[in-house]
Amino acid sequence: MCGNCLLQETAFICPMECPKGMRNGPCGGATPSKNCYVDETRKCIWYCIYKRAEKLGRQEMLLEVLPPLDWDKVGTETWGEVLGQIRKVGTAKFIKDILSKDKEKKSKTWDSVFKTIRQPDWWLGDSDYHAPGYQEPVSELERRLRNGEFVVATEVTPPLNANTEKLAKNIELVKPYVTAINFTDSSSARPRMSSIVCCKVAHDHIVDPVLQIAARDTTRIGLQADIIGVNELGIFNVLCITGDSGKVGPSPMSSMNLLDIDSIQMLWLLRRMRDEGIYLDGRKMKNPPKLFLGAATSPFASDPALQAIRDHKKVNAGAQFFQTNLVFEADRLDLWLEQLDKRNILDKVYILIGIAPLKSYKVAEYLHTKVPGVNLPDNILSRMKKAGEDAPEEGTQIALELIESIKNKKGVNGIHLMSLGWEAVVRRIVTDSGLLPK
Ligand code: SF4
Repeated sequence: MCGNCLLQETAFICPMECPKGMRNGPCGGATPSKNCYVDETRKCIWYCIYKRAEKLGRQEMLLEVLPPLDWDKVGTETWGEVLGQIRKVGTAKFIKDILSKDKEKKSKTWDSVFKTIRQPDWWLGDSDYHAPGYQEPVSELERRLRNGEFVVATEVTPPLNANTEKLAKNIELVKPYVTAINFTDSSSARPRMSSIVCCKVAHDHIVDPVLQIAARDTTRIGLQADIIGVNELGIFNVLCITGDSGKVGPSPMSSMNLLDIDSIQMLWLLRRMRDEGIYLDGRKMKNPPKLFLGAATSPFASDPALQAIRDHKKVNAGAQFFQTNLVFEADRLDLWLEQLDKRNILDKVYILIGIAPLKSYKVAEYLHTKVPGVNLPDNILSRMKKAGEDAPEEGTQIALELIESIKNKKGVNGIHLMSLGWEAVVRRIVTDSGLLPK
């Protein structure tokens, strides 16, 4: 289907079965039974890939950052290219080496054929960590994190209309209590004011904005075009996410078959634009953008050990900070942090844990049943149910308790407070938890 076969890197299961077209790992949206949230009748194909790779001892191969499709090749087969490459290496040498008992020789010759094909010159993906190629922090968020401060970021919901008055009011409301404000990119696949525009409004209000870009609505051309200009608007923090499927958005449903570039590929591409000053096609640029790159992660979307592979890959591709999906179980978080620690990446990425104050039982139930990768334990659900009219206070208390039990964990550098449209609660939570920025 794709004309750029990656089967050896994906435990011999074709990732093109993923409805989102993910080529570098799962999207974080699998259901608790590991089924695909877009099509619940089948298993998440990436979960199957991870499990088979584990069985075959090929898990570490999943770390290689794989390129986006070359649409010129889609619909063609890869074998012609493989045969051509074997001829280049020498057919006799190829056969002799791959039958050899010398493992190193075997893998070198194998790679000289297959890696050349799957990693074209314009991509050159690998499995290594690439430290950021600059010295001075580019944003207030990066400066504080580097200083070792425990930071709070929050989200202000972009408006559903063309007026920025309420947006500006909400920005002013949370500004004294946080280091940075995220603006989502049409979350739940529902169109809202562009994240870039919201970031510009925040910058005008002297706030450090975090620009979220969803792969769902992004092409490689559009991404590069936007990024060239964002510094001019005061945007330096960029969070690359997959984005909710059109399936969860309003009807008529948008195409689910068009993912030009996934979030890991976005990180790889933007890191190279910043550090190597090159476009995807290899052209050099004179003034590369300055970027503090982030990624979303969903600690409980799959087994922590499997989730950590994807997170490791994001760090290798260029993620400097993580903002996690909502966490309601502080103890369970340890399992995921331990896996990141085992992979030796806790000192390479700043982690901000997603916390949401629950305003009502209805919100709690909605998050638990409808939002992929979010799970609320029974005790929280029943506390919210029992609270009745006092639900906002109970939800605030739960958030404060969670922050208290999370803030001293090894590897946690801050909180990402997702107020879910309840911006007024930010002041109370930040002050009561003793996290006011200095
Ligand atoms: S859960 Fe996500 S990654 Fe897995 S198959 Fe579905 S869309 Fe693809």
